[in-house]
Amino acid sequence: MTSFLLDMDGILYHGDRPLPGAPAFVEELSGHPYLFITNNPIRTPGEVARKLRDMGFGGISEERILTSAQATALWLERRQPDFRYFAVGGQGLVDALSRKGRQDEEKADFVVVGEGPGLDYDSLTTGINLILSGGARLVATNPDTTVDAWRDGKHLVLPGGGALVAPFEAATGCKALTIGKPEPLLYEMAMERLNTSAPDCIMIGDRPDTDIAGAAALGMRTAMVRTGRFQPGEAWPEDIPAPDWDVDSLPALARAFHSANLLPNKP
Ligand SMILES: [Mg+2]
Repeated sequence: MTSFLLDMDGILYHGDRPLPGAPAFVEELSGHPYLFITNNPIRTPGEVARKLRDMGFGGISEERILTSAQATALWLERRQPDFRYFAVGGQGLVDALSRKGRQDEEKADFVVVGEGPGLDYDSLTTGINLILSGGARLVATNPDTTVDAWRDGKHLVLPGGGALVAPFEAATGCKALTIGKPEPLLYEMAMERLNTSAPDCIMIGDRPDTDIAGAAALGMRTAMVRTGRFQPGEAWPEDIPAPDWDVDSLPALARAFHSANLLPNKP
């Protein structure tokens, strides 16, 4: 059976506003294995699920969510059980790491930088000294340089995980290991949770450079929905494999999936 992996921001909602047809689309997936996978490590899975339910996505539980913070914590635990870390990031990252390892500002094995609040002069100083003197490894939750946000109906560009880890890389000369899309780890953990493999997966996203590029590299089929930063009519980037579906909305994707017998036709 086909499994679906879905990005969230830009295909399901903008800010706190659900996109037209998105709750109905998710409802249609209910007979299939699916997961929401996000590069955003700021919110905990429970908070993400609540946000979705508040926007009208019925019955979404936190088991449906996989964040880059969770994937980071899982990767660190596999790499080094009982790891010590120094985290720079939001609550979702702190929460995920504290379930698997322990915070240790003196002897951290990993300096983990996540998208969101937390970076300041002191945390940067602590982090770079752990790397330069203590030999800690630099890890980033996600590579996005910027992300879109909406506040009071106004569009804002926020610094992404890639921008926030850059000062650590500049000061130490060390390149961060990155967990989120388009790197393979988040997808691999999603497939593991769904007990499936890449040829049986379809990744649905709004960003060619992360969602689509990463999934295509693993051999998944891909569906591009042009409701995020990438607009209808915009030319496809030459260096990224073309998606299997390229649509302007989720209702259009639902129609295409019905035609391809990937979703049952409605009576
Ligand atoms: Mg997105």
